[in-house]
Amino acid sequence: MQYRECLDIVRELGLRFRYYKSIESLFELDQWSALPAEGAAYRQQTAAFIGEQKNALYQGDDARRAADFLAGVALSDIEDDIARGLVRTFLFRYRNAVRTPQDTLRQYNLMRADCMRAWNEARAAQDYRIFMPWLDRAFALKAEIARAIDPDAPVFDTLVGMTDEGLSVAEVSAQFDKLKAGIGTLLAKLSKARAPEAAPIPDSDPDQMAAFAQRLARELGYRPERGGFNDRVVHGFTSFMGPRDARVSTYRSGSYNLIFTCLHEAGHAMYSSSSSQPVIDAGLWGGIEGGFHEASARFFENMIGHSLAYWQFYYPQLQQEIALFRDIPLAQFYALTHRVQPTLRRISSDEVTYSLHAILRFELERDYFAGLLTAGDMAEAWNDKYESYLGIRPQNDTEGVLQDMHWAGDYIGYFQSYALGNIYDGQILAAMQRDLPDLPARLAQGDVGCIAAWMDEHIWQYGCCYTAGEMVRRLTGGGLDAQPFLDYLDQTYSAVYGLT
Ligand SMILES: [Zn+2]
Repeated sequence: MQYRECLDIVRELGLRFRYYKSIESLFELDQWSALPAEGAAYRQQTAAFIGEQKNALYQGDDARRAADFLAGVALSDIEDDIARGLVRTFLFRYRNAVRTPQDTLRQYNLMRADCMRAWNEARAAQDYRIFMPWLDRAFALKAEIARAIDPDAPVFDTLVGMTDEGLSVAEVSAQFDKLKAGIGTLLAKLSKARAPEAAPIPDSDPDQMAAFAQRLARELGYRPERGGFNDRVVHGFTSFMGPRDARVSTYRSGSYNLIFTCLHEAGHAMYSSSSSQPVIDAGLWGGIEGGFHEASARFFENMIGHSLAYWQFYYPQLQQEIALFRDIPLAQFYALTHRVQPTLRRISSDEVTYSLHAILRFELERDYFAGLLTAGDMAEAWNDKYESYLGIRPQNDTEGVLQDMHWAGDYIGYFQSYALGNIYDGQILAAMQRDLPDLPARLAQGDVGCIAAWMDEHIWQYGCCYTAGEMVRRLTGGGLDAQPFLDYLDQTYSAVYGLT
């Protein structure tokens, strides 16, 4: 086999893999927005079939011949970035597909519905013991799969690498330790200052709020011809249907929080639908998965969407369009959206403490897979960590260890990506400010298009050609580093709390 022939095979398999993934995205959107209860069983069969077909792509002779040939090629010797991305993603998918023990995978898939049911039941009873055996089983099966995929690596490294390719647990832990310490220092500093006055803002008309939030997303660069909005689901998410088709779904609400949800999802959608044509032709569109995709979303939600300069331009428009805000000064809105207050819930936490919620979950998983913690210890360990990191202790298991659906769903080894997104954002912001030193002045004048233009030039157009680590090196010349994010937090919140 020649290198060219091999590359053709790899490209073709990659394209087919993406077709299946697009079908899965359609299914997911349909499941949350339209699928009737009695249609669920047949859909599950159809989805299982699609999943099998997707994996079968890598079980054939062509895939094996290409993998054999590529075993003798060093990635670093491939000069073309797209070809290198193609080979890297092929080898990653091939390894996962051929090494995953099908029996174990089947057992895992068969128990998923029961696992979710037990989680719901445990939540209703506020009793982790109902869910505990299921968590134990799910984690054990995942460990078995991870050991088969890479017998030489610690289980949790393999699981984390499935979401955040190329990152080791040690590297993530080191940056999380730095982040924890920095956030602890900032919280201590803020606790000595007086929190700014921030009376709550009541909800307004959901239609008006949706119209305003969607306009902000469009003005930031989310193009309706590459997606669309649907506000009839229970939580925000983005469906990656195709290289020029990323749909944003949100809940229906009159709360100003809808604005931030919309900006977050628009960040995912713009990233996913902005790959260059050569990247699309190679099937590498959509962006780097895991923490780096989260970074694009959180950048628009937080770095831009929570910035004072942005609201100096848009707040008068919000007041113009939604009457309720006319009696609320910008200072109050800004203070309210920057209130730092430890809470038990990850999804309603503030920008400063948010990372701690993700980090402690990552640490619990890490300690479980290292054998330092059993499923039976999980609820207590969870509560202890909340008390130690955030100073508050859950009063029952539903407020605590049963809070997220991740461990009952197929998201084991996933939580690190939320905090990694913040770390990447600090590094992206620093790189952007180097090129756009007058960014706040631009935002205050409504020149928001420069952000998407910068993202496109430096990040989005490349799809998933690079790993997150390679991308960070391109942007900063260095590796993963929590310091720029800590600097951003300190600057922003010292100003909010009058400490500068
Ligand atoms: Zn997200």
